[in-house]
Amino acid sequence: MSAITLSIDGQKVRAERGLTVLEAARQHGMYIPTLCAHPNLPPFGGCRMCIVEIEGLRGFPTSCTTPVSEGMTVWTNTKPVNELRRGVLELILTEHPHECLVCHRRKRCSPYDVCLRTVGVEERCVMCPENEQCELQRVVDYMGGYEMANIPFLSRNQPIHRDSPYFERNYNLCILCGRCVRACGDLRGIHAIDFTFRGHKALIGTAFNHPLKDSHCRFCYSCVEVCPTGALVDYAERWKPMENREAHIVPCRNACPARVDAARYVRLIADGKPADALAVVREKAPFPGTLGRVCIHPCEQACRRQALNDPIAIKFLKRYAADRDSGLWRQGQMKNQPTGKKVAVIGGGPAGLTAAFYLAKKGHSATVFEALPEAGGMMRVGIPEYRLPRNILRGEIDDIRAVGVEIKANVRVESLDPLFKEGYQAVFVAVGAHQGMKMGVEGENTPGVLEGVTFLREVALGKKVEVGNRVAVVGGGNAAIDAARTALRLGAKEVSLVYRRTREEMPASPEEVDEALHEGVKIVFLAAPNKISKGAKGLHMECTQMKLGKPDASGRRSPEPVPGSQYTLEFDTIIAGIGQRPDVPSGFGLKLGRGNTIAANAESMETEHKGVYAGGDAVSGPASVIQAIAHGRNAASAIDKYLGGDGVIDEVLAPVEEPNPRLARWEEGIVNAGVPKMPAIELAQRLKGFTEVELGYTDEQARREADRCLRCHLRLEIACPSLPPPVQKVTADA
Ligand code: SF4
Ligand code: SF4
Repeated sequence: MSAITLSIDGQKVRAERGLTVLEAARQHGMYIPTLCAHPNLPPFGGCRMCIVEIEGLRGFPTSCTTPVSEGMTVWTNTKPVNELRRGVLELILTEHPHECLVCHRRKRCSPYDVCLRTVGVEERCVMCPENEQCELQRVVDYMGGYEMANIPFLSRNQPIHRDSPYFERNYNLCILCGRCVRACGDLRGIHAIDFTFRGHKALIGTAFNHPLKDSHCRFCYSCVEVCPTGALVDYAERWKPMENREAHIVPCRNACPARVDAARYVRLIADGKPADALAVVREKAPFPGTLGRVCIHPCEQACRRQALNDPIAIKFLKRYAADRDSGLWRQGQMKNQPTGKKVAVIGGGPAGLTAAFYLAKKGHSATVFEALPEAGGMMRVGIPEYRLPRNILRGEIDDIRAVGVEIKANVRVESLDPLFKEGYQAVFVAVGAHQGMKMGVEGENTPGVLEGVTFLREVALGKKVEVGNRVAVVGGGNAAIDAARTALRLGAKEVSLVYRRTREEMPASPEEVDEALHEGVKIVFLAAPNKISKGAKGLHMECTQMKLGKPDASGRRSPEPVPGSQYTLEFDTIIAGIGQRPDVPSGFGLKLGRGNTIAANAESMETEHKGVYAGGDAVSGPASVIQAIAHGRNAASAIDKYLGGDGVIDEVLAPVEEPNPRLARWEEGIVNAGVPKMPAIELAQRLKGFTEVELGYTDEQARREADRCLRCHLRLEIACPSLPPPVQKVTADA
């Protein structure tokens, strides 16, 4: 496109042909007041605040709709122009609550009906900083302000719409700029809202005033983002300024400890690009197939969609992408020249393998020392195969080996000094939490009483474990559920989970509890064992009936014994699934904290010993695979810096595409659709062995599920409107 020259306020400027006068002025840092123009929206010319004088043209054209032309001479700030603008603004303010402009009420704060200042409790008002005025208020200030008593106020008396779980619509504050209508229609292609009447009755709203949910709204917030007043306000931004706005807007991404960009890969799945989606996951984590099966998915707990109905099944979608690996992600992998530096990683679980993976890619020689016969840590010996098939894990560990990581299995490291003597310049301790916890009850060393973590490990390593017909598992976490479901697969006829609180307080994932119940596990709630002894036909477990008391430090209601309520149950095997802790060799000489965990910096994973880093469950206590991966990434970055590198381990593995701002209307039914049911093998087949239970989404299920996503990240792509300079003011005498 060729450039032309024009004059704006006496200044010669160059502008691309096809731009409007408003755009050309903006590009050269000249402000023209406007309330309806917005960089992401087509021109409207509705508010008429951006009028200018153009030599040779009659009247006052709107600069947002007038294209530049060669030799054009524009005046933006003349006396007649400003008088007309003030007249326009007065008309707008006639229908705008006046206290908006005098009480410092901010767009992102209290709404019209509950503005604390209007009820005279100014000091309680949780206002945004001074500079967080709404756009209208800024424009009014720029135009020199008004003596509001001289302007009549005609209230619209509109009800406030709170039919969206995300934002409020208060058309008493609307100035009919039409930005929201264009954002919804022209930008997103949805057309959920429009002008409902014309003339002095004009309003914005949905067809027939239906609730947003029934009006094709996709809750993308584009209307909220472009509104120049407090008419459309995000509930979360109403009362306090946002500390981390991006985290609030795209919560799924922020909730992931490793910052896997769920919003992006969900969109790619909806676009039918699972290989690109997998590459996005792999930009942050080397275990996508594993995470897609076993992740505790904090992203889903944060997902905005749950305010409508179910959160997006992000974990299932990750698995869908991982199961369709085309190898695309390999093409852009970082691979640096060898640095000649050596790093020892103690423990081949998710933290250790992740750290080794990124260190090897940074060019360091990374060796993993694994005490067990096979690497994988808890992914290998803690999570049963029916949830995570070995071939999936092995395949992902092979990809880690492929970048040069050496894994030495069956090697237990008892001291760090020999490693430094062997020439390792840094050590990452990621030994996990593999020591089962005792129940602390009389008789728990009786033969037939097993630790959950040991039980799961022995089964995972292929050892023969007899459990008999009647099994009790004590505990309510995921490990207890895994032990119970494993016991069923070993042939137990009756498996009971004994838990001292109720289902509501169970730390296990709800879906795991559902699966256990479906497979026939019984749960004995509000029961606490206090004694185990050997009886004639099995193990006797004396339990006390519990009741729930006040919440404890975890926020869950504490179990309290009911006096005189003891009763005895009989089992062949009792498994203590009440938790595990790290077993850190004393020869490491590391400072240990609560629960036998290693003391390390939460960001860099550094310990107090130079060159020694620690992470994963050994630092956090039993947590999750994704938390361990995040620790591994942090440690790799910090160790790389320690060894003289730049510490940058982020990669771009998926083609970078501008997100398409157009959403269009949802397919029929998607607004109310919940999560599709994960296909699974039949119950009878499940209990015959350790075949994977979940089969993964079909293409159609995955696409439809990904389509339920609200595309929250698109809100971040909306540009800031052009705002008045903060100090400069004009008056009608200018
Ligand atoms: S609701 Fe906001 S964006 Fe929509 S027309 Fe009114 S002032 Fe403009
Ligand atoms: S709706 Fe989509 S983008 Fe928004 S939080 Fe959920 S998964 Fe993320």
